[in-house]
Order: sequence, then structure tokens, then C-alpha cells
Amino acid sequence: MIRMATIASGSSGNCTYIGTEDTHILIDAGISMKRTAEGLHALDLDFSDLDAIFVTHEHSDHIQGIPMIEKHHGLPLYATGGTLARVKAGDAKGVIRQELIHVVRDREEVTVGDLTVRPFAISHDAAEPVGYRVTQTAGNRQFCAAVATDMGCFDERIEQSLSGLDVLLLESNHDVRMLQAGPYPYPLKQRILGERGHLSNDAAGDLLSRVLHDGVKGVLLGHLSEMNNLPELAYETVRVEIELSDTPWHGNDFPIDVAPRAMLSRVLTIG
Ligand SMILES: [Zn+2]
Ligand SMILES: [Zn+2]
Repeated sequence: MIRMATIASGSSGNCTYIGTEDTHILIDAGISMKRTAEGLHALDLDFSDLDAIFVTHEHSDHIQGIPMIEKHHGLPLYATGGTLARVKAGDAKGVIRQELIHVVRDREEVTVGDLTVRPFAISHDAAEPVGYRVTQTAGNRQFCAAVATDMGCFDERIEQSLSGLDVLLLESNHDVRMLQAGPYPYPLKQRILGERGHLSNDAAGDLLSRVLHDGVKGVLLGHLSEMNNLPELAYETVRVEIELSDTPWHGNDFPIDVAPRAMLSRVLTIG
């Protein structure tokens, strides 16, 4: 059994919970310790249940809760070397204990409790960003979830990392037209639209169409821009993209939810 839910999702803070009966991890801790605790409570958990925090990259909307959480709860922290160097550089008070730090590498699995976690490199303007694929093997069954946000673009390697999933948190950051017509300064627009920026609704629909299969139990669209997107627009664009794709799937074949910015999402449970 795997459960996945976002506790927060968007440019003001990201935190995703993935766990089984025995093992509980967070992917990113980009909101306050208090709000993280509230999200965990809504899942009938607290910090003492957590086994690790995995970090995707060092942008503050993914790490700003870490110093306080590490100070009070001392959880094992997993990230790439490039991300860890930036996280430690920002840890002015030195609260992150060296013995809790674990370096992960692209496509090298690590085991935490009954979860196997496989990072995969993504294209984003950070030091060494990754997404994570998380698998529980229970007897001859496998349950599989993944977090793929903060990606300017995707390629076959990422499609491969997202193949055969049961549940997926996928970035659907912006509507291209809203972004282009919106108030952001030109360089910021270029950054978001660039190959190391964020995935548009159309691109999310395209990627999703490529990785859908019979066994998909649920999709969360996340990291929506507050200024350049709307939940219904992200949902509809992704659905239409699936309809238009040359796959056998229709937009209504799979439960697709939009992850709310500042509260617990629907809890996707498999197994
Ligand atoms: Zn982000
Ligand atoms: Zn980022």
C-alpha cells in the first residue's frame, strides 16, 4: 500500500508526503514546520513517524522548512551533492547534522524502510535538480509513485522514469498565453518558458499522454503558478491534450486532481 498527497504545492511552498504502513517520507519541505505538522496530522501522522526528507532542489519553495525541522526533529536528509551544497550553504546556524545527510545520484536507488527511492535528473535552473520515483515491493506486487515538478522540459529519460506508475504528481505550472500576456517582467517570462524553467499545462498534458497506461490510479497536477494559471484551466488543458494525443486514452479515463496551493490534496491510495 502506498499513499501520496501534497501538503502544499506551488511557488510559495512545496511538500509532498509518500508512505506505506511502515515507512513515511516527505519530498521537499518548503513550508513552515507548523504547516508541515498540520498536513501530517491530517494524514494521522506526526514528525516522529517520518523516516526521511528527500529534496528535489535548493529553491526556497522546496527547502525553507528544513532548518527548523532539522533543528527540532533531526530527520535523515537525502539530496544530490549539488543540492546539498546549496542547502548547507544556506544553513547559517549549522543545524543540519552531518551524520543525517545522504547523497543521492541520478538513477541510483536508495532504500528507506520498505520504500525504494530512485532519483532522476530534471532540467531546471538549480544546481543538480531531480525528481523521485518511489516504489514499495509487497510480495509479488509493486506500488509505484513519482514526483516530477520544476522541469523546463522533458525527454525520453524522464518518460522512462515515469513509466509504469500507479500515481503521479506532475507539474502543470502555467498557461503559456496567460504567462505571455501577464504582468511578469520579460526576463522572468523567458526563464519560466525556458528549458530550465517550468512545465506548461500543454507540456504536462503531452508528458502525461506519453506515460499513461492501464494501471494508472491517479494523477495530481501541481506547482501551479498563482499568477499565470487557474486550476480549472490546468485540468482542462491536460484533459484536452490527452484527448488529442494519438494514444487510446481519453481525458476522463483516469482520476486527475489539481493539488491545492496551501492545503492537503486528495490522498491517492493504491494497494
Ligand atoms: Zn518550485
Ligand atoms: Zn525550482
